[in-house]
Amino acid sequence: MKGYVHSFESLAAVDGLGIRCAVFLSGCPLRCAYCHNPDTWNRGGVETEPELLVKKIARYKPYFKADGGVTFSGGEPLCQAEFIRECALLLENAGINYAIDTSGAVALDENVKAVLENAQMVILDLKFADNESYEKYTGVGIKRTLETLNHLESIGKDTWIRTVVVPGINDSEAEIQRYTELIKGFSCVKRYELLGFHTMGFFKYEKLGVENPFKGKQALEDDVLKRLQEFADNKLNI
Ligand code: SF4
Repeated sequence: MKGYVHSFESLAAVDGLGIRCAVFLSGCPLRCAYCHNPDTWNRGGVETEPELLVKKIARYKPYFKADGGVTFSGGEPLCQAEFIRECALLLENAGINYAIDTSGAVALDENVKAVLENAQMVILDLKFADNESYEKYTGVGIKRTLETLNHLESIGKDTWIRTVVVPGINDSEAEIQRYTELIKGFSCVKRYELLGFHTMGFFKYEKLGVENPFKGKQALEDDVLKRLQEFADNKLNI
């Protein structure tokens, strides 16, 4: 089957273990107000077959060493779970690990479960700490993300959770504590990482002619991010 690739980064500083390639798959059902990649929302980009994509990834295998590999990101990569599942078989034959970087806001169908099960690790966005904020700032509820987190716990999959911290919305210790309370019972969670809101993707909204809900908002200051990360680390002790 065909997959739709927005972009490919070789040996990029992407999330996950070791040195990695990143495949950004196009298409996303969410509309996060802070999204810096609105150009990935619609399915499009380069149409490719699993064989071709894995062949391209395999060129970088000498750099991956024991922990590295490829990270499927997006957009929302699990919207193309069937395609990733086909790639996964080929990657396994080639001895290459893959990670999934997801919002988790997808139905846990057979393909999604298989892709999560066989991943080396999963990076899961916990965008907000309650359903109301999820609906307000992403356009979808929190339910599917929590179902995905519960599923990752049930299969014992190493998971890193990430939250974007946005000035004026969730940039306080009281807010961050709400996330840590949600996460702390999950033994699959090996890392909780806060990312600072930034404005580097603003130009894409203008280029696409798409309304930017956070136009005019400032980037999060580094010292605020550092303080909140220390606060979260102390709460979770992971
Ligand atoms: S899930 Fe990611 S790609 Fe999709 S809208 Fe949110 S930030 Fe953008």
